[in-house]
Amino acid sequence: MHLRKEITKRGQPGIGVFFVLLIFIFLILLSSVFLTWKRWEGQSPTLRFDRDFKALGRSPSLSLSIEDPGCGLKNISVTLKQKDQSVPLVEEQYPGPSFFTFWRTGIQKSKSLELGRLITEKYKVQDGPASLVIAASDHALRNFFRGNQTHLQRDFVFDIYPPRLEVFSGQHYINQGSSECVVYRVSPDAEISGVQAGPHFFPGYPANLADPNVKFCLFAFAYNIPPDSPLKMVARDAAGNEAVTGFWYKLFPKKFRSRDIKVEDSFLQKVVPEIMSHTPEIKDQGDLVKTFVELNSKLRRLNHAFIAELAQKSAPRFLWDGAFLQLSNSQVESLFADHRTYFYQGKEIDRQDHVGFDLSVVQQYSIEASNDGLVVYADYFGIYGNCVMIDHGCGLLSLYGHLSSINVKVGQQVKKKDVLGRSGATGLAGGDHLHFGLFLHGVPVNPNEWWDDKWIKDHVLDRLKAASESAGGSSRP
Ligand SMILES: [Zn+2]
Repeated sequence: MHLRKEITKRGQPGIGVFFVLLIFIFLILLSSVFLTWKRWEGQSPTLRFDRDFKALGRSPSLSLSIEDPGCGLKNISVTLKQKDQSVPLVEEQYPGPSFFTFWRTGIQKSKSLELGRLITEKYKVQDGPASLVIAASDHALRNFFRGNQTHLQRDFVFDIYPPRLEVFSGQHYINQGSSECVVYRVSPDAEISGVQAGPHFFPGYPANLADPNVKFCLFAFAYNIPPDSPLKMVARDAAGNEAVTGFWYKLFPKKFRSRDIKVEDSFLQKVVPEIMSHTPEIKDQGDLVKTFVELNSKLRRLNHAFIAELAQKSAPRFLWDGAFLQLSNSQVESLFADHRTYFYQGKEIDRQDHVGFDLSVVQQYSIEASNDGLVVYADYFGIYGNCVMIDHGCGLLSLYGHLSSINVKVGQQVKKKDVLGRSGATGLAGGDHLHFGLFLHGVPVNPNEWWDDKWIKDHVLDRLKAASESAGGSSRP
């Protein structure tokens, strides 16, 4: 009894202290978890290159962004490896939140690295395979407080030599505003090749010969660029190395006609509401003249940009056969690239270029396809009203505007002279006529050459034939 009493006397305060300690530890744990629970997240840093790449050149352009929206980045290292060399490009540490402070303050959530510039500065690039080894970690408390880790090894090749480029076709005579064809050979490492004519690039296409490296490029010297604009052949490989070569050509600068157009109220009342009802993207200016100018300038620009987009999906082979046809029995009303100045009540209101031919026969005349091809547009189309466009392949599109009715559907194959619809005066048209336009990769070209059998033979078909005689295979792309 006595003994038991003593034990009880000693034991009671022992259990109490232990219990208090337990609660204390539990509270500490609870508050640590409360203060740090967000830092137990398991989201590793993410890595993203600004572009996909398989090859890099001597001075590449490449950037890498690293993000960790959770606890923020702790460290990043990027190493370049080639053969037995290992070159550190980046080695950085970033401070994190202290254990008990709130986790959001002063942390590095993202970092963008100009790897291209760092490679150029820190390494003498050699041709051949290489890799980038990237490691990043964050300030999370996982992995025994080491944080979430991301590792990436990206293999690629350093390619420091540009593609080889050689032009076959000899003399090129070009009318300003018109087309021309060049035949060339480019080494297979080229990802893209073609002609740069002033601001416009025209891609080349395989000539379908036994030698797959033989290509041809139809290009235009735009009617509205200075005659001394540079004209050159370019080829670029995956690493961005560029080969540039000139070729022999002679440009005949052209002076295009100027025409004054009187804009009457009756014309405005006819065209403006009609086009506006089909064109929600143009804002009504609250005034017929102002709205007309908006249609004539802005909508015209948008329409032409859309044609350039359509050309990007052009078939990579000729869909046409022989010379293009000018609408039968038609009389020419307006020429390609007429400079038009628009007057309303004696006052100049706008200036635009007319990038096609206006052809008239009689009202509701059957409009014929100028050549074989694929219908890529058959609907109302801004200033051109009811309109059909045909893809003839390799970036060449023909446009038939102001129709009263359309007979064809998108996706339909048409033959030369097939009826596409009937002439009319929809869109920006005063009277019944056909607006016929040809566009090469979105650049308007004069149809004159394409209407000419001899020009097509001399400038396109014979050049491809000559290449096929030396390289073998068919002579028609
Ligand atoms: Zn026209």
